Formats: sequence, structure tokens, C-alpha cells
Amino acid sequence: MTQPDTTDRGQFNWSGTYRYAFGTVVAPASVCELQDLVAGASQLKVVGSRHSFTGITDSTLAVSVAGLPPAIEVSSDRQTATVPAGITYGALARLLHKEGLALANLASLPHISVAGAIATATHGSGRNNGNLATAVEGIQFVRANGELFELSAGEDSFDGAVVHVGALGVVCRLTLKVEREFQVAQRVYENLPWEVVIENFTELMSAAYSVSVFTGRAMQAAQPPGTLFGAGSATRDLHPLPGLDPVNCTPQLGVPGLWSDRLPHFRMEFTPSSGQEIQSEFHIPAACGPEAIRAVLPLRNTLSHVLQVWEIRVIKADSLWLSPQYHRDSVAFHMTWDPDVAGVDAAVRIVEQALSPFAPRPHWGKVFTRTQPPVAARYERHADFVRLQKKLDPDGKFVNDWVRANVLGEQ
Ligand SMILES: Cc1cc2nc3c(=O)[nH]c(=O)nc-3n(C[C@H](O)[C@H](O)[C@H](O)COP(=O)(O)OP(=O)(O)OC[C@H]3O[C@@H](n4cnc5c(N)ncnc54)[C@H](O)[C@@H]3O)c2cc1C
Repeated sequence: MTQPDTTDRGQFNWSGTYRYAFGTVVAPASVCELQDLVAGASQLKVVGSRHSFTGITDSTLAVSVAGLPPAIEVSSDRQTATVPAGITYGALARLLHKEGLALANLASLPHISVAGAIATATHGSGRNNGNLATAVEGIQFVRANGELFELSAGEDSFDGAVVHVGALGVVCRLTLKVEREFQVAQRVYENLPWEVVIENFTELMSAAYSVSVFTGRAMQAAQPPGTLFGAGSATRDLHPLPGLDPVNCTPQLGVPGLWSDRLPHFRMEFTPSSGQEIQSEFHIPAACGPEAIRAVLPLRNTLSHVLQVWEIRVIKADSLWLSPQYHRDSVAFHMTWDPDVAGVDAAVRIVEQALSPFAPRPHWGKVFTRTQPPVAARYERHADFVRLQKKLDPDGKFVNDWVRANVLGEQ
């Protein structure tokens, strides 16, 4: 049974800053029903948990896979779990917990859908942690003609299909690497001077399993030592955004807890971040981190009228064609902005200009400036991705304006 969602809320992204063209979201209850729907549609996009900030998800017809059967299947060697595409990381963590299993890493929030996060190469932090798409061992799509199409790690085109920005088909199942459940403790360090961050960048970003540096505020880490480069650890929980209630955040103060209750910044039951926001993020080679911090620090005053917080993280290199970390260990410059679309567009251009010497690759789910040639052309395997897209979806069923402009370059 399909369940149309005709609420006004259904037409916006999570933060209410982007209005989609679609009015209804169709949610098939079985893969067969999904296949019929895809085969009969002329244009459609899948809607995940709507946490992207742009038209990446836009279409006149929207489909959700959240109604497909929710069970997960753990392999007999307990190295992988096959999971429904529409499940959120929060719900998946609860199911994995029953099996005593874990994922290697998580993003800042557990509210996002697994398929939506992987489509955009969503990441957590950690010098030895790849983005969340690097956990994928197998992926099953319904392609444009309605047929099922599966790829496993090592097969031709697998590395091209995992980070697909919604342009290859409808993902209904994913097989993810899992490991034995583990515990993490998290601490925040306050008043770490920027000069200290710059001077000790590599050691600092390697100081724990997962490390984030926030502007003007605090330094957050997991499994840290007692002090960090002279900065004292906070004696109360802190929200990454100054002035907001830390009740929304995962516990800090070095109290050990389950991986899924510590690696994200925000708790499943609460609003993540501020909720009133737009985000941007740019990935550059990790070795350029200190120089890039020096390039963006002087912008703080210019951007302060729209900037809520700035976060820096590191992510390990991978081999996924459209991953911003493709073949380079990366440092991510993340900005949470006020929900001021015009002001953010102008601010993003300033940041892009400052980071341009470092070959920045934007986060696919966040706001960046359209360019010609398209942003995707900055990737070595861009032409291969375009060929794969045309092969799986020759009539452009999954191609919307965003994909056309930013991936295919057909403006
Ligand atoms: C508060 C907040 C915090 C965030 N924190 C982080 C962070 O820590 N790290 C980070 O990297 N990013 C972060 N993001 C960005 C977020 O992870 C990405 O935008 C991600 O794509 C959101 O997943 P979603 O399910 O909401 O996808 P949507 O926004 O719903 O969709 C994104 C794309 O995926 C496609 N898609 C979704 N499901 C499917 C499917 N089943 N089959 C085919 N295509 C599909 C859509 O069509 C679209 O193209 C954050 C965003 C917010 C709002």
C-alpha cells in the first residue's frame, strides 16, 4: 500500500530552507511495488530524511523507501549486515546493539537515513575513519527500467555506484561492514588558541578516535588524554553552538558509553544542531589543513552576521569515485549558517574563494556555488561516473536540475 504524505511539511527539507517541487511522497511497502512505480514514472527522486540543504532531492515525484520491510540480516561471519536503505542510523544502531555489533563511525547526528547519507558521502571524523560510504560492501538499486541491480565490493563500477548523489536509481538495500560493539568516552576542551591548533594540527586531529574542532568555543574528542595542548577539559556538557542547551548533545565529561551514544554530537530524541540553519562544507587535502585555517581565520568578522559555528574534522582517503575524500586524506571545513539563503550564498562565495588554492571539493548535501565546468568535474573519475549514469538511466529519470548542473554539466 502506498501512503501519500500531503502535509505542507512534506514539501520542505529538514531545516525548512529549501522548498521541493513535489507535493506528495509515495512510500511503497514492497520492492515489487517500488519496481512498478519506478518503471512507470518519467521522473522521480528518492527522499531520505531530508537533511540535505539544496535541490539535490528535488523532483515533481518523490518516493520514500522508509516503508520497505525494516529487518536487518547479519552475515554468518558477523562481518556485515544487510540493512534497509530507508532506516535511520539511530534505528539501525538499536538493531545492531541487539546483536552486539557496531558501525565504525557515525555522522554528527543519528537522525539521517543510511541511504541518503551514503549517497552524499556523509562522514564523521577521525584520521583512520573513512566516510560512512566506505562501510558499504554491497548495494542494491531499482534502476530506471524497474529492474533490480546489485553490486558488491570489488566488482566493476562498485566504486562508482556507492556515492551516487541520487542519480543512478533507487537504493533499497545496503550491506555494511560491522564490528563488535565498542565503548567511547567523549570530552570537550575549551579555549584552545588557533595558533596552537595550527602548530599542532596533525597531532591534534590524531589525538583520539574522532576529533572535531569548533570555532570560538571548544574542542571535542573521543577517548582523549587528560589535557590537550594546554587546554583544560570542560567541567560541564557543552553544545557546539554557543548558548544552546547541551541536553540535545551526547554525554561528554569522559563518561564511557556505547559507540552510538558518543560518536554523534547530537542525541536521537532531540533536535540536532540549531534547527534554524543552512550548512556548507568543503574538503581539502589534510596536509593543507594548517595553511587553509590561516586562509579562513581572517574571514570570521566578515562572515559573523550569518555564521553560527565553524567545525573542522579529518576523514581518511578512499577509492569511491564521487567521494570528496577520493584518493586524499582530507580535512573538512564545515560552516553552520543562519537560515538566510541570500546571505549564505554570498558568504559561501567568500569561503570558496579563500579555499580555492587548496582544490576544495564541496559536501554533496550542502550549499555550494554552481560552476561550469561542474563541481563533479574536479573528480578524476568524473567521466566514468557520467558514463555509468547514462548506462543505468539512459532517459535521465533520476536527473534533476541539481544533478544536471553539478554532476553532468548540462546547464
Ligand atoms: C543537522 C545536520 C547535521 C549534519 N551532520 C553531518 C555530518 O556530521 N557529516 C556529514 O557529512 N553530513 C552531515 N549532514 C548532511 C547530511 O548527512 C546529508 O545531507 C545527507 O545526505 C542526509 O541524508 P538524508 O537521508 O537526509 O538524505 P536526503 O537529503 O533526503 O537525500 C540526499 C540525496 O540522497 C538521495 N537518496 C536518499 N535516499 C535514497 C535512496 N534510497 N536511493 C537513492 N537515492 C537516495 C536523494 O535523492 C538525494 O539525492 C548534516 C545535516 C544536518 C541537517
